[in-house]
Amino acid sequence: MGSHKSQKQSDVIIIGAGIIGVSSALQLAERGLSVTVIDRQPPCEGASFGNAGVISPWSCVPQSVPGLWRRIPKWLIDPEGPIFIRKGYAASFLPWALRFLAAGKADKVDGIGDAMMALSRNSPSHYRALLSDRTEVELIQDSVYVFAYKQAEQANLDHFGWKMRRQRDVPLSLISAGALKEREPDISDAYQAAILIHEQARALNPSALGKAVAEKAKAHGVQFIQAETKALKSEAGGWLVECQDSDFRANNIVLAAGVWSASLLRPFGYKLPLEAERGYHLLCRNPGVTIHNSLMDVEHMCVASQMQAGIRIAGTAEFAGIEADADNRRAFIFKKALKNLFPAINTEQAEPWMGRRPTFPDSLPCIGPVDGVDGLFAAFGHGHFGLSQAPTTGRIIADCLTGTTPDIDLTPYRTDRFK
Ligand SMILES: Cc1cc2nc3c(=O)[nH]c(=O)nc-3n(C[C@H](O)[C@H](O)[C@H](O)COP(=O)(O)OP(=O)(O)OC[C@H]3O[C@@H](n4cnc5c(N)ncnc54)[C@H](O)[C@@H]3O)c2cc1C
Repeated sequence: MGSHKSQKQSDVIIIGAGIIGVSSALQLAERGLSVTVIDRQPPCEGASFGNAGVISPWSCVPQSVPGLWRRIPKWLIDPEGPIFIRKGYAASFLPWALRFLAAGKADKVDGIGDAMMALSRNSPSHYRALLSDRTEVELIQDSVYVFAYKQAEQANLDHFGWKMRRQRDVPLSLISAGALKEREPDISDAYQAAILIHEQARALNPSALGKAVAEKAKAHGVQFIQAETKALKSEAGGWLVECQDSDFRANNIVLAAGVWSASLLRPFGYKLPLEAERGYHLLCRNPGVTIHNSLMDVEHMCVASQMQAGIRIAGTAEFAGIEADADNRRAFIFKKALKNLFPAINTEQAEPWMGRRPTFPDSLPCIGPVDGVDGLFAAFGHGHFGLSQAPTTGRIIADCLTGTTPDIDLTPYRTDRFK
């Protein structure tokens, strides 16, 4: 990261060097704007470090769907279940949870699904275009997304989520145990069927992918500053960004600080329902088995994938607030799911990780001008889908800041939709 001195006013300061911030930085710089990115960490060390690597052009099923509430009590009483609310956090969490369930009503989900898909569409080719002149483009592999079922009758394309995908022409197929074994020879015989989402990609190292985008942005003149942003102040002629040791000036601000974005917006009258949906992963080095695709274990709701460093299995929604310490037991629970999927896997060298998905109740991010605050642009709240949605988010941000009308209607992503 660069030095804190010699600060001339940039066209844009981006707060946050996660995958959303770096993707925005590169696309802004490619259009000729002077860009500074401020993050207290090196690029892609937050949520963007440890995700499951799924790059889907087809994400269109929100987290909250009709009837979901019926399944929640079962998940909550299981200490090893996919959802966990930490003791003492339930009261703070309740208002968000009620909004989350409301967003899953039948009359809401179709619009949300379309808005999700608009951000995800063509994401593999967008990444490849962004990194076309760098060797790291090889970190993006063609993939199908395998949803593996133990009970064949549960792999049903008429179920709600699959119907939503079919209505949007997502390329799907239903396969038997034999065909699954051909695709994934190391998978357990207990898995009897799978539904495949075709024409996807997966990242072999999501953090390295994001760092490559950042390196390319640097080559286009983007300055990266390692500093903690304390406050954003609007002043005559632009913005002042107050950091721990220095202040920085810009004509415009892009807020891409992941789950921390809400507190930086609060002084402007926005009280946003942005929750830290804490996810975990376990990375098994020398696993002794191979996975060829992104693989969702439907029963345990976690995704396993072959990464450069080993097999990573990721998932869990833990609600404990932003700052609470990681509870790595939640990552080690994945050992059981891995053994279920791959009986021969070696889980001896397993490393846990926790990251905070920045999640709104309606599964959509905030993108675009922040209503009532000139020169401030939102690019945060991508929840479960930020890796997939980053290239299009960056393109929208570059459009907004260069006076180009985005080819996507930004209404569903407005920051004032929660007022
Ligand atoms: C377990 C798990 C699995 C996932 N799997 C997938 C997947 O397979 N596919 C997919 O598409 N998505 C997936 N996601 C979601 C995806 O990782 C996130 O949506 C995405 O990383 C969010 O990126 P971001 O840039 O908004 O946030 P972050 O990566 O968290 O970046 C925000 C940055 O802002 C910085 N920052 C915050 N506040 C300040 C401040 N005051 N001063 C300076 N810097 C600041 C932070 O240091 C951080 O670097 C997964 C997430 C998790 C946790």
